[in-house]
Amino acid sequence: MNPQRTIRRSISCAGIGLHSGNKVTLSLKPAAADSGVRFRRADLGGLEVAAAAEHVGGINYATGLTRDAVRVDTVEHLMAALVSLGIDNVVVELNSPEVPIMDGSAAPFIYLIQEAGVKPLTTARKYLKVLRPMSLTRGDKRIAIYPSDYFKVTYSIAYDHPMLRHQSRTIRLSEETFVEEIASARTFIFLNEVERLRQQGLALGGSLENAIVISDTGILNNALRFDDEFVRHKILDVIGDMALIGRPLIGHLVAHRGGHALHTAFAAQVLAQTDAWTLVEGEAADLRGTVPSAAPVRVS
Ligand SMILES: [Zn+2]
Repeated sequence: MNPQRTIRRSISCAGIGLHSGNKVTLSLKPAAADSGVRFRRADLGGLEVAAAAEHVGGINYATGLTRDAVRVDTVEHLMAALVSLGIDNVVVELNSPEVPIMDGSAAPFIYLIQEAGVKPLTTARKYLKVLRPMSLTRGDKRIAIYPSDYFKVTYSIAYDHPMLRHQSRTIRLSEETFVEEIASARTFIFLNEVERLRQQGLALGGSLENAIVISDTGILNNALRFDDEFVRHKILDVIGDMALIGRPLIGHLVAHRGGHALHTAFAAQVLAQTDAWTLVEGEAADLRGTVPSAAPVRVS
């Protein structure tokens, strides 16, 4: 059995919301098996919304969840960190509607989870294993998932900008590969979009401390963390958005020019196509991360 996990002890951090600009304190708290990831608004008397595709609402350059009067924005980077470190069950408590952006990546959340420690529970984790291909296309944006023995992601981006004409990367996910190759890739924004976003009341907390800002000729930040940090961040985003399925995936996810709206619509579509997947338990040997690793590597 590959047990579900939670964190060992409660832990907190503080930051600001990328879009709201509000100060926020985020606390992670241990939770029981099969309770999943739940966001709790301490400032609304503890009202909760589950991290589930059915609650997606308010996609505006970030992924938001809504249920009745509860709203939580910009959940994707934290969700990517939780699913990639195999944290199945946790309460995420906030005193404001937006998850703090931290440095624009998932690395600070990885650090937070590692500081809290990981606690195995006594209930088996179930993975969603893809049995046949599924896809969703909207204009020139496309996302699909194919059967595979592992969770793999291939992402490609193409922007009308010399630095971002084409970037593509494939990664087989494990706890280690996520931490080393994806978690620290930061969000990015085009300078000529910043003013328009701010007029819409978005990106109010954005700065060079929490986003790569791209001008016509280059980046305003000192340096990139990876040559292809942009596509790595898109992989981070799609992992976080697909985590709203509520179970770790076994399949090869392939996306081209996606965004949060496409990712989360696809998560809901996958859940609805119940004949295209099955739930499986991991192998006993799969003690680390969310990805079964006992089977031999298949080159494809
Ligand atoms: Zn992002």
